[in-house]
Amino acid sequence: MGDSTGGMVCGHHHLYSALARGMPAPPVTPTTFLEILKQVWWRLDVALDAEMIRWSAMLGALEALESGTTAIVDHHESPNAIEGSLDVIAAACSEVGVRAVCAYGVTDRHGPEGARLGLEENERFLRAGGRGMVGVHAAFTCSDDTLDRAAGLAADLGVGVHIHVAEGDVDAGAGDRLAPLVRSDWLVVHAVHLARPLPATLAHNPRSNMNNGVGYARPRSWGGPVVLGTDGIGGDMLEEFRLGYARAREEDVTATPAEAWGWVRAGWDLVPEAARDRVRWSYDGADDPWRLAFTPGVRALDVWVAGEQVLAGGRATRVDPEEVRARAAEQARRLFARL
Ligand SMILES: [Zn+2]
Repeated sequence: MGDSTGGMVCGHHHLYSALARGMPAPPVTPTTFLEILKQVWWRLDVALDAEMIRWSAMLGALEALESGTTAIVDHHESPNAIEGSLDVIAAACSEVGVRAVCAYGVTDRHGPEGARLGLEENERFLRAGGRGMVGVHAAFTCSDDTLDRAAGLAADLGVGVHIHVAEGDVDAGAGDRLAPLVRSDWLVVHAVHLARPLPATLAHNPRSNMNNGVGYARPRSWGGPVVLGTDGIGGDMLEEFRLGYARAREEDVTATPAEAWGWVRAGWDLVPEAARDRVRWSYDGADDPWRLAFTPGVRALDVWVAGEQVLAGGRATRVDPEEVRARAAEQARRLFARL
């Protein structure tokens, strides 16, 4: 039969990274977080065009839906295809049938012109009625002026800022720079090396932090709300929950599944409609964190978003999953050829 819950919320995703799996290895093995950015992600993002962004988002949204995730808080960067990129992502998610909260990650990595175009994409998308936040890559790749502009734009538009903060020690100074700007509607991602607390929601990404070897964010010590994100490694929030629980437990054996489940529940404060979506799971006990934490492989069988069934018997109803995978694989080949 299986229990049902609300739709899962991925509190921090990069749909553009769905095509990255299997990409050619970098010429030199990265040994630090900054080298991982430079040799993997910053080579990938400059190669993206609109067609790659579209099929990457379609694949990422499909995989999220197949995992019972009905809302994706996305953070996007494609320096050579900025304008309109958020529309492409929002349309892809809508086609699959999942909710998206989009943001373009503003940065000065490509000069002031790049930062300006990024801010404009956030503004254009939000003013046209798009659901989103103002994205900023990270404090350490932005000038004070760019951070000010992004914070000001978000305040003007009544949305928060979605920003990577102190993911690696290279960004350890972010707290002091952001403290005068931050507001409670900001989504602060990672905060592994944050030297001072910021009054905002933390998006905790346990698998990604482990994968990048950046250290542990200690989400139980965060003063405000904590949500879980995948940082682009799929959209399976039950998996991230189990991993986040195990990582918390490794740090402190008194950590409980109920605490980690609280991070899942907090996703419904970010995207309240998702709490009213329905997911029927392959498991009786999907409403009990103590069972879920020790039960790998729980699958979403049926999903309803805003009353419409978008997954039936584990299969997407609005798109042909085989076609999405085939088209995404084509775009991945194009992308890899450019790298
Ligand atoms: Zn991220």
